[in-house]
Amino acid sequence: VNFFEDVKPLLMKNIPNRFLNLLRLLGTYGDDCDIPIYVVGGFVRDLFLGIENFDIDLVVEGNGMEFAKYVAKQLDVKVVEHEKFLTASLFFKDGFRIDVATARTEYYDKPAELPKVDISTIKKDLYRRDFTINAMAIKLNSKEFGMLYDFFGSRKDLEEGIIRVLHKLSFVEDPTRMVRAVRFEQRFDFRIEDETLEILKETLEGGYLERVTGQRIRQELEKILQEKDPVKGIKRLSELNILNRIFPKTYFTVLMEKKLKNMFLVFKRLKNIYSKNNIFYAVLRIFLEFYDVETLKSVMQRYGLPKKFVEELKKMEKRIIPVIEMIKMRIKFSDIYKILGKPVFETAAHILAYLDDEDSKNYFFEYLERVFTVKLNLSGNVLKEKFKIKSSPEIGKIMGEIFCMKLDNPYINEMEKLKEILGGRNG
Ligand code: ATP
Repeated sequence: VNFFEDVKPLLMKNIPNRFLNLLRLLGTYGDDCDIPIYVVGGFVRDLFLGIENFDIDLVVEGNGMEFAKYVAKQLDVKVVEHEKFLTASLFFKDGFRIDVATARTEYYDKPAELPKVDISTIKKDLYRRDFTINAMAIKLNSKEFGMLYDFFGSRKDLEEGIIRVLHKLSFVEDPTRMVRAVRFEQRFDFRIEDETLEILKETLEGGYLERVTGQRIRQELEKILQEKDPVKGIKRLSELNILNRIFPKTYFTVLMEKKLKNMFLVFKRLKNIYSKNNIFYAVLRIFLEFYDVETLKSVMQRYGLPKKFVEELKKMEKRIIPVIEMIKMRIKFSDIYKILGKPVFETAAHILAYLDDEDSKNYFFEYLERVFTVKLNLSGNVLKEKFKIKSSPEIGKIMGEIFCMKLDNPYINEMEKLKEILGGRNG
């Protein structure tokens, strides 16, 4: 088997010139420092898939941080070093970013001898990666510019549409790869290779996913939510019993699928209204809808969910269904407001998950627009000074009444309404 292949023609065909020149330049900096430089991972994978990807991950056989600093000096860009991981990131002025990682080159035959370069260093680095499709490298140094390093049959798997781990202990080593497997499978419409699937199931049953921090699982889940068809990904997680390991009482049903689909259809529109919009929390509202207190508590701890999120979930538990009924019956906004108030993003998303028909959706969006834009011109001070009302609760109540009137009709005359209210009170 030939592990090397000149893919310069493909680079020239698929990669914009400006970008290609940067890659060549990085290669010559590698020459200057006398160290081998490779671009690896997603960039190489997507090159073969014909997908645009400007995420550059470099691997350096040598000191990655030294190399990054050299590049930063030559190109006058910012460098941030992460000593602990022997990595560095280069930040260009236009927001473009390059990550540099170190593949350790030295090994010692005897402790006293000078280090020798291990020719299979890049191979070892690639072997530690998640799947074969992500485990290719292209060399950038001038002499070998455009040489593909494919030790594990990556191209073949890519051509056949297969997600395959590099070794049997891969999922044990990093159980979040199970979630990643689903993400890539769904994104590219690939399939998880049979043996990999077996290993995945065994590792899952072995309880390894439970050993990973909630934070890391959450990160991978959030990446699935950013994919083009997240519901497909969630469905697959459920099929493989991964979802159940993450959220023990979440059962993906036809109804849940429908709710999630409804939700994802309206996120864009909701984001126009809410600057604070966390899709993960919105999805959790569906996942955790019917949880008992105990399980909810443990999930909350594991995934570091804010107290506020759980409080809102509890508060809304019994209100969601009535509010939906009210929306469907086109009950006036002021009456909905008395139950719902100004909902947070997750709550609005939760309600929309239950709404299938466009008219109801539009009615609810109109409600949201109203509650967030209607403002009173009248101030509490006017009530205090001009109308001699002293008790704050009373002022609050009157203002609330007028706000509700304005929700139903933004064009009311506030002063008139105020006089009506007060007149009515005085007899
Ligand atoms: P995307 O297109 O979603 O950015 P990506 O492949 O670039 O996909 P990243 O999460 O950015 O994914 O990771 C970059 C590279 O680092 C991957 O291609 C893979 O080789 C490696 N990698 C990332 N996470 C892991 C992991 N958990 N285990 C092993 N290798 C990983």
